[in-house]
Amino acid sequence: MVERLRLDPARPLIICDADEVLVQFVAGLERFLERNACYLDLTSFRIHGNVKHKASGEPVADEAVSDLLKAFFASETRHLDAVPGAARALEDLGARAQIVILSNLPETSREARIENLADHGIRYPVVAGKGPKGEIVKRMVAPDQRVVFVDDLPPHLSSVAAETPHVRRLHFIADRRLAKLMPASPDAHRRIDDWPTAAQWIASVIDGT
Ligand SMILES: [Mg+2]
Repeated sequence: MVERLRLDPARPLIICDADEVLVQFVAGLERFLERNACYLDLTSFRIHGNVKHKASGEPVADEAVSDLLKAFFASETRHLDAVPGAARALEDLGARAQIVILSNLPETSREARIENLADHGIRYPVVAGKGPKGEIVKRMVAPDQRVVFVDDLPPHLSSVAAETPHVRRLHFIADRRLAKLMPASPDAHRRIDDWPTAAQWIASVIDGT
């Protein structure tokens, strides 16, 4: 998959996550849980343990949460809302950099993600990843290339920092409530949670200014 991207090592590259960066994962998950008589009690930055039964307020068992998440990806990936400003920012940045969307989701949901993003005017190659992202990022980048990696999850930022230290890393969390719960990743160069500001920073990196 990565090999088929035909990336140009001489051009800057932006590797961007989707959930909570380009599309509103938590808002979509909350709508889905509501229909399943559950809710997300956002007291910490995790899903297991925070999904609760509406009737009792009791946590849903971990295994059942995993099943709910599988069902969520299968039915809702196609219908997530865009993060405001994302499409416009990528369109502007796309004039001077290659863009790849690296999203951890089941391969079976990849087409739905592509179609959902296209509905929002976001049309770039989508790579369905699994696990820490550092290894796959390493396969996409050249050692002296200007690259920006954007993600909401600190383990991915740390993994990319370890595998490809020259890649500039932006910690971005679209959901306001999640953003409050999650401090800036120590392995990111910057923490920015809105697209107009993020686009300025990314532009300064790819332009080398
Ligand atoms: Mg994400």
